[in-house]
Amino acid sequence: MGERRSALGPESRARDFPKHGPGLPPATVLGSAGLMFLVGEVVPAAVSGRWTLALAPRALILSRLAVLLTLPVALPVGQLLELAARPGRLRERVLELARGGSDPYSDLSKGVLPCRTVEDVLTPLEDCFMLDASTVLDFGVLASIMQSGHTRIPVYEDERSNIVDMLYLKDLAFVDPEDCTPLSTITRFYSHPLHFVFNDTKLDAVLEEFKRGKSHLAIVQKVNNEGEGDPFYEVLGLVTLEDVIEEIIKSEILDESEDYRDTVVKKKPVSLSAPLRQKEEFSLFKVSDDDYKVKISPQLLLATQRFLSREVDVFSPLRISEKVLLHLLKHPSVNQEVRFDESDRLAAHHYLYQRSQPVDYFILILQGRVEVEIGKEGLKFENGAFTYYGVSALTAPSSVHQSPVSSLQSIRHDPLPEPAEGTRLSAYCPDYTVRALSDLQLIKVTRLQYLNALLATRAQAVPQSPENADLQAVPGSQTRLLGDKTAAATGSSHSRPGLPAEESPGRNPGV
Ligand code: ATP
Ligand code: MG
Repeated sequence: MGERRSALGPESRARDFPKHGPGLPPATVLGSAGLMFLVGEVVPAAVSGRWTLALAPRALILSRLAVLLTLPVALPVGQLLELAARPGRLRERVLELARGGSDPYSDLSKGVLPCRTVEDVLTPLEDCFMLDASTVLDFGVLASIMQSGHTRIPVYEDERSNIVDMLYLKDLAFVDPEDCTPLSTITRFYSHPLHFVFNDTKLDAVLEEFKRGKSHLAIVQKVNNEGEGDPFYEVLGLVTLEDVIEEIIKSEILDESEDYRDTVVKKKPVSLSAPLRQKEEFSLFKVSDDDYKVKISPQLLLATQRFLSREVDVFSPLRISEKVLLHLLKHPSVNQEVRFDESDRLAAHHYLYQRSQPVDYFILILQGRVEVEIGKEGLKFENGAFTYYGVSALTAPSSVHQSPVSSLQSIRHDPLPEPAEGTRLSAYCPDYTVRALSDLQLIKVTRLQYLNALLATRAQAVPQSPENADLQAVPGSQTRLLGDKTAAATGSSHSRPGLPAEESPGRNPGV
C-alpha cells in the first residue's frame, strides 16, 4: 500500500489539492458556509420568528452592550459622515431606510419635480376665481362662490394682481346671505396668512412647503424688471397641491366640483320635457335649445325648487311634481332679471306689482331688495331674497284686493275647485305695491304657465288616454285647460295633483 501511494508520486498529490494555490479544500469551504448560513441566518430567523416578543426585551441588553463597545469607533465615524453629507440629511436618510423607504411617490417625484417650476403648472391670474375685498356676501355672491367650486379664494384690492387676503370656503359656514356681511369682516376675522412663491421655484421645493403645512395654495409671483421703472413683484397666478400632484402622477385629478363645473359648462341642461308623455301638448314648455340659456346657477335652481315645493303650498309636490317644477323654473321666461336704474328710481320697470293693477303672475325674489307698500295706509317695508308675492294670481282669481303679508290661516287642500268660468278669468288685483330697490333676479310664473305645470304633472300621473291626449295648452286658453276632461282625469282624490284652493293671496315669509 505504502509503495503504491509513493508510486503515485507528486501528480497524485497535486490532484488532491486545488490547482489555484494553497487554501482550504472545497468541502470545508462549502461546509463552513452552510454552517454559517444555518447558524447565522436560518436558526435566528426561525427562533426570532416564533419567539420575537419574548426574546426582544432580553436581547436589548446585548444590543446596548454592542453599542457601548463600538461607540469609540462608531461615534467619530458617524460625526464625520454627518459633516460630509448635508447636516441632518444622513440621519433622515437612515431613518427613512429604517422605515423601509419613504412615500411611494418619492422616487417618482424626484425624477419629475426638480425639473419643473411652478410657472409650468400654475393657473393664470385671468382664470382665477377671486373676490374684490369690497364685496358684500349676499346671496348672489355666495351662490357664485359655490358655483366656482373652489375651496380657497384669493381676495384682491383695487386690481386682481393685488392679492391681500385669502377666503376659505369653510369661513362662510356661519355667514347668512340675509345679513349681507362685508367680505372684509370675514377675511379680517380669520386672517389667513398668504403663501407666496416665485415663478422659478422648483416643484419639489413647493411640495416640501405644502407638506410642511403651509397653505395648499400658493400665489405665484415674479420679479418684473422690464421697463424703465423699479423692479416690482408681478403676480402670475396660483398653484395648489393638486397641480403638483398632477405633475407627479402625470394625469389630471378631477374632484367632485370640477366634474360638476365641467358638467355645467359642457352639457346643455337636460330637457325635462322628454319624460313627459304628453310633451307635445305642453307647447309653452317647449324651448328651443338656443333659447336655453341658464341664467340661474344650478345651486340656486335647486334651492329655489326646494323652497317652492316645501314653503309655497301651490308648488307643493301634491300639486306640481318636483320634476315639472324644476323644468318650469328653468324656463327662460320664468327666470327674469330687473336692472335697477339709479338715475330713475321710480322707473316703470322697477314695479313688480302695483296696487289695484290686475296681474296674473307670481313672483319669487331670488336676489336683490324690494320695497313693499301695503294698503291705503301705505305701510312700507323692505324685503329681500326668497320673499314671494302674488300666490293668489295663480290660484284664486278674484277681484278682491289681497295683501302680500303672510297669513297663518291654514291652507285648504280642496282638490280641483270648480268655480264658474267667469270667476276663473277675473284678474287678481293686489292691495300692495312692490318696487325694486336694486338689481333683481326673480322667478316669475304666470297663471298660464302654472296651469300648464299642473297639467304636466297630471299627465305624468295619469296614463295616456285618448281622453286626455287632446288637452291643449294654448295661450289664453285657461278655461279649456281647466275643462271637465282634466277634472275627470284627476278625479277627486286628495293625493292627486290638482288645482290648489284659494289661499292667502300673497305670502311673504320675511314679514
Ligand atoms: P380642494 O380640492 O382642496 O377642496 P380646490 O378644488 O378649490 O380645493 P384644488 O383641488 O387644489 O382646489 O385645485 C384644482 C385646480 O383648481 C388647480 O388647477 C388649481 O390651480 C385651481 N384652483 C384652485 N383654486 C382656484 C381659484 N380660486 N380660482 C381658479 N382656479 C383655482
Ligand atoms: Mg379640488
